Amino acid sequence: MEIVILLGAPGSGKGTLAVELAKVSGIRHLSSGDLLRAAVKDGTPAGMKAKTFMDTGNLVPDELIAEMIEDVVRADTKTQTLLLDGFPRNVPQAEILAGMMARVGVMLRCALLLDVPDDVVIRRISGRRVCPACGAGFNVDTLPPKQDGICDNCSAELIIRKDDKPETVQHRLEVYAAQTFPLIEYYRGAEKLVTIDGSSDDLAWKTQAALQKIRG
Ligand code: AMP
Repeated sequence: MEIVILLGAPGSGKGTLAVELAKVSGIRHLSSGDLLRAAVKDGTPAGMKAKTFMDTGNLVPDELIAEMIEDVVRADTKTQTLLLDGFPRNVPQAEILAGMMARVGVMLRCALLLDVPDDVVIRRISGRRVCPACGAGFNVDTLPPKQDGICDNCSAELIIRKDDKPETVQHRLEVYAAQTFPLIEYYRGAEKLVTIDGSSDDLAWKTQAALQKIRG
């Protein structure tokens, strides 16, 4: 297995791109946010611990998410390329990940940065809607469901994620700037950083651009 790390601000379109990449290329998408939300929904001990951090837009403790990611990596003996979306989220997590990769014997292919200006990020987050039943993501501006407010896949009523509410979004962007942004320099320094322009709403174009960078 080799790992690709997907970097980008909240609302940069990481999740949407990752789902599309998985669809067209067989890359496995592992979202730390999805992993945590599933744990919260299932009421596992890790989920119960994570919930209060998540509801306020703060990061959960590094070890908590790192252990969950390591469990998935160890259990997966089939995947060739694993796309990590949302982990690592800060430099200490990047160091935990490097140690874990060395222990498990997996390589880092690259860190792919989806570069998007702040105004686009804020517009995208305010339009974001999710399906509470199947987890599908939509956007009222860029990826609307066929029927207003209803999931295309399972017909459940779409919701705004608690941490997408305006007061929490501002805080998440501050957390990103303080904690996650330094990862760009971290991976540039390691000569692992590749960048694509994420400001376009053309998903097919971004997917091809990402694949080219990953396959390099
Ligand atoms: P996301 O869906 O990636 O925006 O993540 C949603 C929330 O899950 C974040 O606001 C954090 O509370 C938590 N989270 C996700 N990934 C991590 C991580 N790598 N480290 C700490 N907290 C995380």
